[in-house]
Amino acid sequence: MAALDARSISAWFGDHKVLDRVSLAMPAGQVTALIGPSGCGKSTFLRILNRMHELVPSASLAGEVLLDGHDLYAPDRRITEARREVGMVFQKPNPFPAMSIYDNVVAGLRLTGIRASRNSKDALVEETLTKAGLWKEVRDRLRQPGGALSGGQQQRLCIARSLAVRPRVLLMDEPCSALDPTSTRRIEETIAELAAEVTIVIVTHNMQQAARVSDRCAFFLASHGTPGVIVEHGPTAAMFDNPQDERTHDYVNGRF
Ligand code: ADP
Ligand code: MG
Repeated sequence: MAALDARSISAWFGDHKVLDRVSLAMPAGQVTALIGPSGCGKSTFLRILNRMHELVPSASLAGEVLLDGHDLYAPDRRITEARREVGMVFQKPNPFPAMSIYDNVVAGLRLTGIRASRNSKDALVEETLTKAGLWKEVRDRLRQPGGALSGGQQQRLCIARSLAVRPRVLLMDEPCSALDPTSTRRIEETIAELAAEVTIVIVTHNMQQAARVSDRCAFFLASHGTPGVIVEHGPTAAMFDNPQDERTHDYVNGRF
């Protein structure tokens, strides 16, 4: 069963329609990459997957999102629960800069109503920083502010912060676009290691990155002011080696 199943999603900002009946199943334990030119609705689609879309007053949507078979937008489902189960990492690393590295990692617990003892928090901080590939670098300076870390370290801190509430799914919106090649590599390694336990959906403009990290790809396109659609989706190797649509072929080969 797909961890996340988006069914016929349409989205609007006011009366500007930006997605038109987008359906995509994102299998558990796999990395799904969303690719396509700027403005075709990838970020909007990602935000719909953890109910961040609702934060924009002019935004509306149609269709449904199932998380492990259950409606993410069900009236009796709390928005904090949706956020806990579906975490998000953004393009620009955004740790709480004045807060310590330790407190950044555990920040999500209180926000989502999880109580934890000091000992269990200590264990969680070590576990999640290890998963994010940051533990060895920061174990001796957990009380330093998150803002003192390098950009790549800050992004790994944000990944740790997301993982600390044990999400089922981690959404990543161009997580490496602001990072240098070495930091990018390290994040890619982390994604590969995490994929076994958390379903990952990543937006990337880097085709080599999509090819390296993802199991499946979905190609979004919005041509000539029409709302975004998925032109083609499937296993990454097939999308790159044998695309069925000429537009996919042109995009993955850097032609637009
Ligand atoms: P992508 O991530 O693929 O670049 P986006 O999802 O950011 O695309 O944007 C899709 C469309 O929605 C664009 O036309 C963009 O201008 C519009 N849009 C995105 N966010 C908002 C917003 N908060 N208010 C109004 N329009 C928005
Ligand atoms: Mg975007």
